[in-house]
Amino acid sequence: MTEIRGVGIGLGVAQGPVARMAEPLPAPLDEPSALTPDEETARVTDAVAAVARELEERGAQAGGAARDVLEAQAMMAEDPTLADEVGTRVRAGKTGEFAVHDAFASFREQLTALGGYLGERAADLDDVAQRVIARLRGVAAPGVPDPEHPFVLVAKDLAPADTALLDLDKVLALVTTEGGPTSHTAILAREKSIVAIVGAGAAKDLVDGETVIVDAAKGVVTTDPTDEERAQAQHRADARASAASAPITDGALADGTAVPLLANLGNPAAAAEAVALGAEGVGLFRTEFLFLSSAQAPTVEQQREAYTQLLQAFPGKKVVVRVLDAGADKPLPFLNDAHEENPALGLRGLRALRASEDILREQLTALAEADAATDADLWVMAPMVSTVEETEYFTAVAREYGVKTAGVMVEVPSSALLADHILASADFASIGTNDLTQYTLAADRLLGSVASFQDPWHPAVLRLIREVGRAGAERGKPVGICGEAAADPLLAVVLVGLGATSLSMAPTALADVRATLLEHTLDDARVIADATLAATDAATARAAAMTAAARTHQKETQQ
Ligand code: PEP
Ligand code: MG
Repeated sequence: MTEIRGVGIGLGVAQGPVARMAEPLPAPLDEPSALTPDEETARVTDAVAAVARELEERGAQAGGAARDVLEAQAMMAEDPTLADEVGTRVRAGKTGEFAVHDAFASFREQLTALGGYLGERAADLDDVAQRVIARLRGVAAPGVPDPEHPFVLVAKDLAPADTALLDLDKVLALVTTEGGPTSHTAILAREKSIVAIVGAGAAKDLVDGETVIVDAAKGVVTTDPTDEERAQAQHRADARASAASAPITDGALADGTAVPLLANLGNPAAAAEAVALGAEGVGLFRTEFLFLSSAQAPTVEQQREAYTQLLQAFPGKKVVVRVLDAGADKPLPFLNDAHEENPALGLRGLRALRASEDILREQLTALAEADAATDADLWVMAPMVSTVEETEYFTAVAREYGVKTAGVMVEVPSSALLADHILASADFASIGTNDLTQYTLAADRLLGSVASFQDPWHPAVLRLIREVGRAGAERGKPVGICGEAAADPLLAVVLVGLGATSLSMAPTALADVRATLLEHTLDDARVIADATLAATDAATARAAAMTAAARTHQKETQQ
């Protein structure tokens, strides 16, 4: 048995035989074209248009987030700057195939150099180029294999067009050697609840037909598993399936303590599905996701429309909207224009908004207008707050616009350590465990080489969360969790034991967390949390929680 590590998406586990995705088309040779530049241009224009239409059609068929992704890809295909770049090469006598390959490759380099969200779009661009070149050559674009039995799909990185239309009866799990947690493969896998591990470099050596276990919760692909490992994996998969079919109830512990289960959203269009999955409101609306591709700051009208649509989906329910969190993994050109060596430590989040206060004020105006037009209970919070002074600044500005509940995210250790003072002026705190882990362990959350440090089970992270939980209890203020940690069912129990009063997560994680909370009382949760705090590293904290949870759960079921 060997273990291949990557970044798990979601919590699923699946097993089955490997089927590898076909290798990409060989790169076209740089040889002179036998056609005139006009003839080459006409071929390329036709091929690009056909690919764009095909991507749009696939998008319409798939719906949801896949449609947005594929429409964005279709726009990439027809991007005028790219067309100019291709034209320049064709006029220099290159073949259409080579011109497309070369122009897309240089654009890809620029995107990769930008890093973060845009860097992860590079794979989307490669896919568009492959599709156009395949069409010019009159061959089929490389796609998902069809071995006529269920399989674990192993690929370098999946194109959105392939992920969107995966046959979920056949694809048991997805493993990619490239791509990070915010790649489109990851986003779509999360949305479709496909068991997936991305960035598992060593999976390049897997061969067709060999059996593997894909454990997304651990981020591990196990090759040549023992019978016992296979049986355990099956047991977990069955438990998840039964959680998914359990009745949808409000989040609560076994003793009836309410723990509202909320959704993390980045687009109002996803609200209906979150409601269907039992979200009791929204714990984190990432407004920057609406404007990642905008060169200009969004207008008040654009924003009002989006926020109104969101709030309308949750009448009478709590909706926590985060003001723009620009920078590092989510650069917004209109807020982050300076080059920074360490953007995660730079002018990001509230710091960037404060430096362009007009944008913050316009966003608060739009939120106030949307609030006035709807019946949701709007809470507004600021990202990346690192001092008490920033907290006072944000809550004061938010109140100028009539925001009734103004809070801050705790994502930086300094804020966790001073949570008692932070909560003196903020109405609530919401802990962003993704960044809190990144900053506590000093490990870039997007960097594969330090991914093993990015583990919210680390007791140093949990001790900081305890500080915030304590401060919230002392001041009688809510402390939510909105990082990925809330989506890990056992860790969710720990977080409640540390004082979290609500949990917000990707809607597809709600069922698992709901089922696990119901197995433990508040006293149990505190005992389990205490066990993790005594650990020295993430692995022992997780193991201690499992042992303590099994013990308390057994006690519960005997009573
Ligand atoms: C976090 O950092 O945990 C968080 C919820 O914010 P984001 O992932 O958008 O940075
Ligand atoms: Mg964050």
